[in-house]
Amino acid sequence: MHELSIVQSIVDIAEEQVRKAGAVTVDSIELEIGTLAGVEWDALDFAWQAAVPRTVLANAERIVQRVPARARCSNCQAEFELPEWFAPCPDCGETLSNLLQGRELRVKSLVVS
Ligand SMILES: [Zn+2]
Repeated sequence: MHELSIVQSIVDIAEEQVRKAGAVTVDSIELEIGTLAGVEWDALDFAWQAAVPRTVLANAERIVQRVPARARCSNCQAEFELPEWFAPCPDCGETLSNLLQGRELRVKSLVVS
């Protein structure tokens, strides 16, 4: 499962940060996930429940920031929110655009103790 490997890599990052800080546990973790990052929410939650117990994240509060995908039209340069890949530009209808944000999948911050 794709989401399980995502959670596993988040656990790896958290363990490294805890070790670097000389801490023992993570109090809270903030994740930034773009709406076009290809992450299935229910699956991510399920994977989290499966992978996180007995790790430094076991008691961490999880804060998820969803980053809405935005794109710039390659025809008229308008910027707009992109609900899905290849959604047309609301100004001119062009379907080619450059993604500005929305594929993020990263640990934004960690509070350790
Ligand atoms: Zn346009």
